[in-house]
Amino acid sequence: MKLAARNAHMMGDAGNGWAILFRAREMIAAGEAVTMLTIGEPDVKTDSAILDAMDASARGGNTGYTDIAGQHALRAEIADRVSARTGLQTRPENVVVTPGGQAALFAAHMALLDAGDSGLYVAPYYPTYPGTIRSGGAEAVAVPARPECGFQPEAAALDAAARASGAKTLLINSPNNPTGVIYTRETLEGVAEICQRRDLWLISDEVYETQIWEGAHVSPRTLPGMAERTLVIGSLSKSHAMTGARIGWIVGPETAVEAVHQLAINTTYGVPGFVQDAALYALRRGAAMEARNAAPYRRRRDIAARVLSGSQAVRLIHPAGAMYVMADIRATGLTGDAFAARLLAEEKIGVMPGESFGAAAAGHLRIALTQEDGLLEAALARLRAFAEARMP
Ligand code: PLP
Repeated sequence: MKLAARNAHMMGDAGNGWAILFRAREMIAAGEAVTMLTIGEPDVKTDSAILDAMDASARGGNTGYTDIAGQHALRAEIADRVSARTGLQTRPENVVVTPGGQAALFAAHMALLDAGDSGLYVAPYYPTYPGTIRSGGAEAVAVPARPECGFQPEAAALDAAARASGAKTLLINSPNNPTGVIYTRETLEGVAEICQRRDLWLISDEVYETQIWEGAHVSPRTLPGMAERTLVIGSLSKSHAMTGARIGWIVGPETAVEAVHQLAINTTYGVPGFVQDAALYALRRGAAMEARNAAPYRRRRDIAARVLSGSQAVRLIHPAGAMYVMADIRATGLTGDAFAARLLAEEKIGVMPGESFGAAAAGHLRIALTQEDGLLEAALARLRAFAEARMP
């Protein structure tokens, strides 16, 4: 008996990243004190008031099938939030609720790409991106953003890739995982220009929109001519420390939202009503709750900047947002893979090699700011000493 051939294409290109993560977990299971700075799991837990709202909803009877595109009140709340934050009038019909941002990414690509089409994505990238694009039978084409350009995607490279591949979609992510970079308005205007010139749909992954340390987050959907060709991916995973609740959304033109709705009828059949009620409660608590959730990462980003400041061996890519920092360790002569493997074995510190986010981040490390301040500071000081001892 044969499995579907598509399974082989869903694997990402994560290189040694998973191996390091799994090795770190094995060491912890064996009782070793490993400082985990690997994945983007908030160390802050879901606010208990949100859990109370979930509990009250479930006990109040909201445990059956729900509206598959999302409960009207939640779609309306998301639409109002987007309208207020972006100035672009958004209606409930522009919103479809999904079980998390990842399901939203999958649904967006399924709705826009046929088998045999091509979809672009910017590298370095969140590791599920290529597999997500490929799972519907499309070809995933990486467009590298270069460290010399501060990992901002360049219009010329996007244009060349779109022309050569005949792509139908472009996936971007700002604030960016893994680099911590926020795309400037100029970058996004370039992206918008290429999307219009090459007739691309834009899928804009904005799951870190509440984690802005410097500058401003511009949603490219608001740029002229973009609302009709942009699908924005949102999630409460990071903004409200609700990774396990699996709740996110897509905002876009009604036709695309309806296509995602049809896909949901045939796949997820909606998101649990009590989770949607908890999400509604969380969103109604407004920006104050989001700021409280984001505060530890902002503080730790400052700690990272201080501890690594002036090092020739570990150079921080200027972190403007999101819960990660990226460091360039090329001066040590080690690859990101080799550095991360040795750091884990010798210092018991788990970080992700840049290579697991694509060749564009080779010779870099991604450090998740997901440990308590003191532990993070001590681990970064050891990481710095480890890197400096390896300088030729
Ligand atoms: N997009 C990016 C860039 C991410 O980093 C993540 C998770 O880490 C996701 C999407 C998916 O998040 P979720 O499915 O938990 O909403």
